Amino acid sequence: MKRKKIIVGNWKMHLNVHESSLLLHRLNQNIKVHRNIEVVLAPSMLALQPLSVQIDRRKFRLAAQNAYFVDEGAFTGEVSFSMIRDIVHYAIIGHSERRLYFNEGLPLIRDKVAAAIRNDIVPILCVGETKSEYEAHETKRVIHDQLTTAISNLASREIDNLVIAYEPVWAISNGINFANHVIAKPDQVAGVVTYIREIIAELYGDRASEAVRIIYGGSSNAENAYSYLVTEGVDGLLPGGASLNYLEFSGIIAAAARVEALALKEAK
Ligand code: PEP
Repeated sequence: MKRKKIIVGNWKMHLNVHESSLLLHRLNQNIKVHRNIEVVLAPSMLALQPLSVQIDRRKFRLAAQNAYFVDEGAFTGEVSFSMIRDIVHYAIIGHSERRLYFNEGLPLIRDKVAAAIRNDIVPILCVGETKSEYEAHETKRVIHDQLTTAISNLASREIDNLVIAYEPVWAISNGINFANHVIAKPDQVAGVVTYIREIIAELYGDRASEAVRIIYGGSSNAENAYSYLVTEGVDGLLPGGASLNYLEFSGIIAAAARVEALALKEAK
């Protein structure tokens, strides 16, 4: 089954509305229409609406970085999935920064996944182990717990659309460019991606496991993007820091285009 590549830029809590608009303008100049690649931008909640008016929909889609699982009510400060359903295609759910800094636990993430789907928003579900869990060889247990809880309320047909992002917390750059920052090797990523597909196959069957898109996030950039994107089973990337620089992000899209061109050539 051919799965469409997807690159999701997570702008995190960076850029005000004006700066976000400027970055989109630069990306628009540097990125052409790619039929086989979905390019998704996740600006701050505040910038989503203005960017939705500015965006060239042939090139880009929008994602929320977060939303609340109840559709409406007395929840001061929150924005619900139902409020953004006409603006975004995707929503990042379960990012490690939300798990860590905002105490988002497994049940809340499960409820957010269900709320996104209820509102026709595709979840980009992040899973990944911390450094200490990695060192304790607990990667599979953590991935299993995070994934199975998050999707436990979903029906088989709802899994097909899902995007799962494997983001080892120890490989996330936090915007800091250490020369010797540890990054995940493509074969490590491949092992976890295979494991995720095995879990989906066990729960929802082979068809769902083949349909679901699994992407990688953790210090990806224009230089290393190709090595991840040619890795068996990896359907895209979720860059954070590199998505704030239009040349880096455009470079990642160019790498995805090279991988697609190669696949096309091999298919002939
Ligand atoms: C992220 O936070 O989702 C991420 C992958 O960040 P970075 O690319 O900066 O490591």
